[in-house]
Amino acid sequence: MDTEGNILMEKYELGRLLGQGTFAKVYYARNLVTGQSVAIKVIDKEKVSRVGLVDQIKREISIMKLVRHPNILQLYEVMATKSKIYFALEYAKGGELFDKVANGKLKEQTARKYFHQLINAVDFCHSRGVYHRDLKPENLLLDENENLKVSDFGLSALAESKRQDGLLHTTCGTPAYVAPEVITRKGYDGDKADVWSCGVILYVLLAGYLPFHDSNLVEMYRKIGRSEFKFPSWVQPEARKLLLKILDPNPVKRITIPKIKENSWFKKGSISEEQNLDRASGSSTTSTDHAEDQELSRPPNMNAFDIISLSPGFDLTALFEEPQQKKEARFTIWKPASVIISKLEEIGKRVRMNVSKREPGLLKLEAMREGRKGTLSIDAEIFELTPSFHMVEVKKTNGDTLEYQKVVNEGLRPGLQDIIWNWQGDEQEQQGLLPQQDQ
Ligand code: AMP
Repeated sequence: MDTEGNILMEKYELGRLLGQGTFAKVYYARNLVTGQSVAIKVIDKEKVSRVGLVDQIKREISIMKLVRHPNILQLYEVMATKSKIYFALEYAKGGELFDKVANGKLKEQTARKYFHQLINAVDFCHSRGVYHRDLKPENLLLDENENLKVSDFGLSALAESKRQDGLLHTTCGTPAYVAPEVITRKGYDGDKADVWSCGVILYVLLAGYLPFHDSNLVEMYRKIGRSEFKFPSWVQPEARKLLLKILDPNPVKRITIPKIKENSWFKKGSISEEQNLDRASGSSTTSTDHAEDQELSRPPNMNAFDIISLSPGFDLTALFEEPQQKKEARFTIWKPASVIISKLEEIGKRVRMNVSKREPGLLKLEAMREGRKGTLSIDAEIFELTPSFHMVEVKKTNGDTLEYQKVVNEGLRPGLQDIIWNWQGDEQEQQGLLPQQDQ
């Protein structure tokens, strides 16, 4: 079976329990072949399916692989059995950053170093259209060299669901790190909400305690909404100025990451982080074609979970269904949505299917003639990852699976061949990062 004694998949020797979350237990483990230390996160499939997360897990991208960065915890591998999902993660030997703060505030220079690393990691992900939305102390770990590793960039949907069912929350049971606009559920920009959380984290590093705290939850919401907080005497004026700009309750006026990077307090005494900065910058994907894509409204607040795995090694679909009966396919394309739509319309004609636009981002392909098991009907859903990088999910909604597969293999695959970047589950492994070019 999967675990023989304490050996997982004949590959990892499991050791002590490192920590425990709502859906997961995390163990230390050693790769038997390479000797490398890893952390194995074990997720109970039944638990996640009970709260309706299986679909999201099936669609989960190996975002940590996609966004490989020195300050983001790397996801090496995903494995599964009937009842469990296992993530092999980079092992963060230094444990949680906030265990350090538990002993009191950090020195300004140390706080700045961690803040640099946090901002670099978050900026890098944002440039790839990925928002964390649940940045909080438990997600900030340290490696053996005291470098920050942000974890759970791919798993923030799990945290989301904790909020939805109302039972589970952050460990302290408060929305201490959540931006005001997220609390009021007004609809928000993932990047601005992440910047707010980074501000709360910086405050905690410098002050040694939370900026917004009240035993009464309503009162706490009020404080967050007005950004009502005080500085302890030891926080220096320059740091105060920056924090005031980050913890602006108005997301429109809140400082952006590029401006944070220009801030004088931020820039002070930067040494090795400059390397990180270099690596993380220049990565922004810009769009010139977005205006013409207005017909497809942007899916609201995509997070890592809304994105499909680009790497076959992380294709969880196979964990849940027989490969020969695949009724859905996913692929990614470096083109604006309008180009993808015209392409699909063109292919539709070729395979004799009517193509109609339904909800924003959803195309329906319906066969002109009835097939063996009724009219073949296929949904093609387009998700925006960045304005010029899209993931398309194709799913049979009616008709015969073999006929569907024929359309995929003989219509879609050849038809999209010249614009497609990656079919999920194809043999060739895509390495690391997304290509840097805009088409
Ligand atoms: P999580 O469910 O991801 O919040 O993990 C629960 C706890 O396990 C964390 O708060 C950490 O203390 C520990 N942990 C998680 N991932 C790792 C890792 N990669 N390396 C070391 N400890 C970890």
